[in-house]
Amino acid sequence: MKGRSNDKQSLSRHIKMFSNLVNERYGMKFDKLLPPHVGGSESDGHDMAKAISDYPVKGALSSIIPLLETKLDYTAYLVAFITSAHHYSLVGKFDEDEADAVLTALFSKVVASFNIENATSSHPKQSPYGRVFNCDQPSNTSRISPSLVVELIQFSDVTGNDSMGIINTLTEYALDVKEETEESVFHDFLFPVANGICAHIDTTGRSSTGSERRFIKHMLTKYVRDYVKKAPPSPPPDWQKKTTIRCICSNCASLRMFIDDSFSTTQDFALGGKRRNHLDQQVDKTFFTTTTIRANPHKLRVEKTQALLVSDFKAWVARVQIANSELEQLSQKDCLEEMLGNQYHSILSHQNLVLPDDLPPMPAPRGLRNAVQRTVPAKRPFGQ
Ligand SMILES: [Zn+2]
Repeated sequence: MKGRSNDKQSLSRHIKMFSNLVNERYGMKFDKLLPPHVGGSESDGHDMAKAISDYPVKGALSSIIPLLETKLDYTAYLVAFITSAHHYSLVGKFDEDEADAVLTALFSKVVASFNIENATSSHPKQSPYGRVFNCDQPSNTSRISPSLVVELIQFSDVTGNDSMGIINTLTEYALDVKEETEESVFHDFLFPVANGICAHIDTTGRSSTGSERRFIKHMLTKYVRDYVKKAPPSPPPDWQKKTTIRCICSNCASLRMFIDDSFSTTQDFALGGKRRNHLDQQVDKTFFTTTTIRANPHKLRVEKTQALLVSDFKAWVARVQIANSELEQLSQKDCLEEMLGNQYHSILSHQNLVLPDDLPPMPAPRGLRNAVQRTVPAKRPFGQ
């Protein structure tokens, strides 16, 4: 933390020095005066724009560009810089013509190199004259924040720049999402971005673009088809009763955890004879098998048979409940129906999203924002 605040102090000092030099017509280049290791994160981008706006010298914004263009891999940093600098130009901190020209030129380069995920950057520990970025541990990736993406699209609208390149990158990202990360990619990034874009379209009253419609369609189709997935085979009708352990003793608590863990198929319980018998009596033999493992100590091995169906089914029900809640929220946006066109109903009322009528009451899944139960997309009550 100490290093960071030193960076900021030295950034301000350098900028002030620069400002003085320009005023004295030395004609020095701004980027030569900045500490070389500043920048990389979203907040660094905001800070950089703020720092320059504090010393508004004509030409300051232009002279920083060569430095920023060496950081095209750091999309979040540059987007934060662009949106902040634009804000400062609107409130009169920069010459508006200069800002428009500079930010438009930078925008087109950022779009061409737009990365949604990036190796996390951090400040190097020692030498202020070391490398621009610390890339020692590229294993950590960070994702650009959804609000920043939406702000960039808003910037492109206001300044007459074309956001198609960004939207197409979003579409490719949605189509390429891997199964291990899809839950977070959809819920923490793509849905917030989609909600932001649709809200922006609603607010400005402009029409959606072809690339925006393509993004929403592909993303939602991929979500419903590949994340929510088809309903797995239903377990036998009495599954809930027969896979619920009612005893509250601590051994049964472990048993319950095993049953609820959808990745676990078999577990051994090393217990005395009496306790093994007790556990054995709790599990229904049409859903589990049990065997005693003769070892020291003896163990009761519990294996899921039909209970495996229950795990898959419960996981699917949870995904459907969350998906319906996400889609409900997105369908509050006026533009969604126009954007999806004739695919509106086939996506929002997709078979994968329909829970069976005879579903017993189940606790709401973690991560459910609002417990709206829905099988048919709710239409807005007005504004049709
Ligand atoms: Zn018990």
